[in-house]
Amino acid sequence: MEHIKVSVVIPLLNEEESLSELHQRIKENLEPIGEYEIIFVDDGSRDNSLKNLQALHSQNPRVKVISFRKNYGKSAALSVGFSYARGEYVITMDADLQDDPAEIPHLIDKLEQGYDLVSGWKKVRHDPLGKTLPSKLFNYVTGLMSGLRIHDFNCGLKIYRQEVVKELPVYGEMHRFLPALAHFDGYRVAEIPVQHHARQYGRTKFGASRFINGFLDLVTVLFLVRYIKKPLHLFGIAGLLLMFFGFAILAWLTWGWFQGVWIGNRPIFFLGFLLLVFGAQVFSLGLIAEMMTRAQADRREYSCKMLIGFEGHNIDF
Ligand code: UDP
Ligand code: MG
Repeated sequence: MEHIKVSVVIPLLNEEESLSELHQRIKENLEPIGEYEIIFVDDGSRDNSLKNLQALHSQNPRVKVISFRKNYGKSAALSVGFSYARGEYVITMDADLQDDPAEIPHLIDKLEQGYDLVSGWKKVRHDPLGKTLPSKLFNYVTGLMSGLRIHDFNCGLKIYRQEVVKELPVYGEMHRFLPALAHFDGYRVAEIPVQHHARQYGRTKFGASRFINGFLDLVTVLFLVRYIKKPLHLFGIAGLLLMFFGFAILAWLTWGWFQGVWIGNRPIFFLGFLLLVFGAQVFSLGLIAEMMTRAQADRREYSCKMLIGFEGHNIDF
C-alpha cells in the first residue's frame, strides 16, 4: 500500500457552494508536499454537496467521500473520518472556506518541530461578536480547567500525528475539546496563529442555539475536561462524603441509644438515614457512569449511505 503523507478530513453539512474551490486550494497546497488523500465526511447534507463531491472524486481519485444517512454532528463526522484516515499526518479543516488551506505547510512545519497536535489559532477572527465573545470565555475556562494554555480550542483547522486521532475518543460534542483531551493523554500540543476568513456562502450550522449551547458547553467543560475519563472520581467522592455524614449521624444516635435516648422520634435520624442511602446511590451512579464511559469510547454506530474511493480497504468501524 502506498505511503500517504497527509490525510485531510473535512466534515461538512450543506456546503455545496464551497467544495470545489476548497478542493482546488487544498490540492495546490498539498501536491508539493507529497502523497495525500482528502476525506470529505458528508454529515447528512440535504443540498447538492454529495453530488458535487462525487464529481470531485471522479476528477481526482485522492478525494474520498463518506456520506452519512442523517446529520450526526461534527464530532461524529470527524470520528469516522479519523478511522478511515491513513496519512502519517491528519489535518482537519472546516468546509466553508473559513479555514485557509495555505496554512497547511505552516502546520506541518510546527508539527515537525516535535509536536503531536498543532491547533490553529484564529487570532484575527472574522465572525460576529455574538460568537467571538462566548468563545473567548469558553477558551479561557477550558484552558484553566485543563491546564493547557492555548487561545483557541475549537478552531476547525488542526494537524495531528496519526496515532493521536486513532486514540482520541470523539463523540457527543467532544470536537471542542480535542487539544485538551490529547494533552491529558500526554501528547505534546502547540498552537500557531492562522488566517481566518468570513463565511462566504451559506450560514453557520450551529445557529442561535450557540448561546444556550455555549453555556451548556461551559458546564460540559467543567465536568468533561476533568472527569470524562474518571466520573467515579467526582461521583465517588461526593457519594463517600454523603455516606460519611450519614454514618456519623447514625453512629452518634446509636451511641445515644446506649445512653437510653430513644432514636425513632428524632428528625435527625431521617437525615442520617437519607444521607447514607443517597450517598450510596450517588456512588453507584458514578460506577455506572464509569462503565458507560468505557463502553461509549469504543462504540461507533453511524449508518453510512455511501463510501467512495475506499475499495480494497479493510477497516472496521
Ligand atoms: N458541520 C458538520 N456537521 C454539523 C455542523 C457543522 O459537519 O452538524 C461542519 C460544517 O459544514 C463546517 C464545520 O462543521 O464545515 C464548521 O461548522 P460552521 O462553519 O457552521 O461553524 P462555525 O464556523 O460557525 O463555528
Ligand atoms: Mg464556519
